[in-house]
Amino acid sequence: MFNIYRKLKWFILEEKKRYLLMLFLLLLISFVALVPAKLLGMAIDMIVNGGVSVIALTRIVLLMVAVPMFRYGLSFFYNHMMTVEAQKLTYKLRQKYLRHLFEMDSTFYETYPKGDLISRVTNDLDAITVAATSLLEGLIFNVGTILFAIAIMGFSISWPLTLVSVTIMPIALTILNIIRFQKRKYIRIHREIYSEMTEKVLESVEGMKVIRAYVQEKEDLAKQDLAIERDIESWRYIVRFENWFNPLFEVVYGISYILAFGYGIFQIVNQAITVGELVTFVSYLGMLYGPIISISTIFSQINNATISVDRFEEIMDKIPTVKDDASSKEIIRFQTIRFKNVTFQYPFDAQPVIRNITFDLQSGQTIGIVGPTGSGKSTLIRQLLREFNVTSGSILIDGEPIESYKIDDVRELVGYVPQAHMLFKKTVDENILIGNPTASHDQLDKAVKIADFEKDILFLTDGYHTMVGEAGSTLSGGQKQRLSIARALVKDPQILILDDSLSAVDAKTEENIISHLKEYRGSKTNIIVAHRFSAIRDADLILVLEKGKISQRGTHEELLKQEGWYKMQYIQQISMR
Ligand code: ADP
Ligand code: MG
Repeated sequence: MFNIYRKLKWFILEEKKRYLLMLFLLLLISFVALVPAKLLGMAIDMIVNGGVSVIALTRIVLLMVAVPMFRYGLSFFYNHMMTVEAQKLTYKLRQKYLRHLFEMDSTFYETYPKGDLISRVTNDLDAITVAATSLLEGLIFNVGTILFAIAIMGFSISWPLTLVSVTIMPIALTILNIIRFQKRKYIRIHREIYSEMTEKVLESVEGMKVIRAYVQEKEDLAKQDLAIERDIESWRYIVRFENWFNPLFEVVYGISYILAFGYGIFQIVNQAITVGELVTFVSYLGMLYGPIISISTIFSQINNATISVDRFEEIMDKIPTVKDDASSKEIIRFQTIRFKNVTFQYPFDAQPVIRNITFDLQSGQTIGIVGPTGSGKSTLIRQLLREFNVTSGSILIDGEPIESYKIDDVRELVGYVPQAHMLFKKTVDENILIGNPTASHDQLDKAVKIADFEKDILFLTDGYHTMVGEAGSTLSGGQKQRLSIARALVKDPQILILDDSLSAVDAKTEENIISHLKEYRGSKTNIIVAHRFSAIRDADLILVLEKGKISQRGTHEELLKQEGWYKMQYIQQISMR
């Protein structure tokens, strides 16, 4: 259970001095908290013994006022330090985590869904921070309070009395823990039901448009009602359980009071202690109640945090399969890229998606890739992004395997426009400049021109400075595509890859973009995956991909002379116009 602190040792060591100062402050605070009860006892004894003087009493009263103020000052200072530490830890863990995520390859992202990765860096990380700061504090403070109180009770009042009334405490603590353990089981069930409910709500929010369009509101609400009801019912169960069992602890505690009073009065009669001492004693006994409950709570929270640490570490321990090593070479330009018998299988798939792919790509060429949906076109070209290692065969850049180059360098060669667009909640120009943050105005304008996005910018409310929503909701599908193309172009990449990026633009716009590419990117390499043949008609080489294999290859004219998918589709497209 405490291995959470072993895992955070690096942080505690880094912050050693502060942690020591905080420890000292804490112990001081828990000690100071015990002083007023002692003063009260002294005052009572003074009154009972009749030796009361105004001066002595005033002194005690003043002290009783001063002590809490002193304690307040200490707490203030302490809390400030602890907040700073907590923030520091969160910051460091989050930074480590994000840095690690950037190193991970696509196999990793296939394993862990987005939501899961996010919950590890939010919920779990919060739990860890709380464990390293406030829980640790609570533990020390409460254990400190209990030990100090018992010591004072024993040394300054009476050991027999202390032993009689305190031995029942471990029993109370055990009962408390049994209750907690049972409750945790119910809470776990509740959490599952709760997350089902949240998912339902999330789905409804995300699918709002579709739900409305198909007038499914009623059905959807009914489903949500059910989920909410289940949630409330399971929570009710926990509350009921608590109501039954929590008072048990109080009963045990009450017994210890009775023991203290009974035995205490017996001792007063025997003149072993004074009345004031018994008052002090019983006050201390009362002060133990809070800390005992707290310690038990803290234990269970630390337990939860341990699960969080494990979840966090699980991610941090993952080693990327695609990574650089000391011998990785640099590359800025290339002459040829050769796919040699490349076969690739996604990590959790049973079969390869592309098989035995062989072709050459010369710098300056334009290659077209066509084929039915799901034939592996995206998978094939994405191999150039080094997301995964190929399963077998090799990709050679200027004769050397792609794996021998620096990953970032290879990615730097490529400007990839994905099939699904990712727009960030930023302005239009910021979204484009992601492709090349240092691009000049002219470069930006040129990219926008080639992507045939110029005309759209004129119509946007704030031109380049128009905000586009999280999912680019203010732009049409075609505009999003062109913005994505501009993003890739602003990088002026050696290889431009358009992965079905012209699907949402009209024929005229497509023609513009293709002719701009010929005009401005004549000396660079272009790979165009397209559905419309007009986009790839003039390519130097066209590959037809069917079921993961190259079924045909050649120029447009050559392919039209062959019987096969290409000719069939072409005729169909022409006749549809
Ligand atoms: P295309 O681009 O030609 O439509 P894809 O390369 O996108 O084809 O997909 C080819 C096949 O690979 C499909 O059957 C698809 O389901 C599968 N596939 C695509 N991406 C993944 C992935 N990340 N994990 C597992 N299978 C995938
Ligand atoms: Mg695709």
